[in-house]
Amino acid sequence: MVSVEVVRGDITAEDVDTIVNAANSSLRGGGGVDGAIHRAAGPRLAEAGAALAPCPPGEAVATPAFDLDPPIRHVIHTVGPVWKGGTRGEADLLASCYRRSLEVADELGARSVAFPAISTGIYGYPPDQAARIAVDTVLSTPTRVERVRLVAFDRPTFELLGEALRTRS
Ligand code: ADP
Repeated sequence: MVSVEVVRGDITAEDVDTIVNAANSSLRGGGGVDGAIHRAAGPRLAEAGAALAPCPPGEAVATPAFDLDPPIRHVIHTVGPVWKGGTRGEADLLASCYRRSLEVADELGARSVAFPAISTGIYGYPPDQAARIAVDTVLSTPTRVERVRLVAFDRPTFELLGEALRTRS
């Protein structure tokens, strides 16, 4: 059974073997957490991403971590849904991001995976609903990953993820 922790910080400094990037479908880098990961990984990350693009919403693909600090070895790029009011399948797509990322993590043999709060920044997903989907999907997806860290950059997200974990369904 996977152990899930909620922490606050910068995902590029996580003590895990694999981090998940909230990417856009070009996989060439962008703003927010995507920009932070690309800056820390160096230009080879965009080259590797471009070779795998386009990645549709709800899907996930892996690249090496390039210049990211050990123990991070892999980056899983997943494309979250853009929030359009909640009636365009956003919840299923967001759940798919977490599920597919864990499936790709299993293919990599990952033991510890850190996720950002996918879609809750530039893509506009309501952070309370996104936190619940993150926690419930990670806990209901069969995986050989031992440790999942849900990484909040800001305090409100940290509190929402903690609340979702304490009151998980
Ligand atoms: P999206 O386009 O999927 O909405 P964003 O990167 O805009 O992605 O935001 C997703 C979440 O990642 C937000 O909660 C944002 O505050 C957070 N974030 C931004 N930078 C970092 C970072 N270095 N580490 C972890 N989370 C981050």
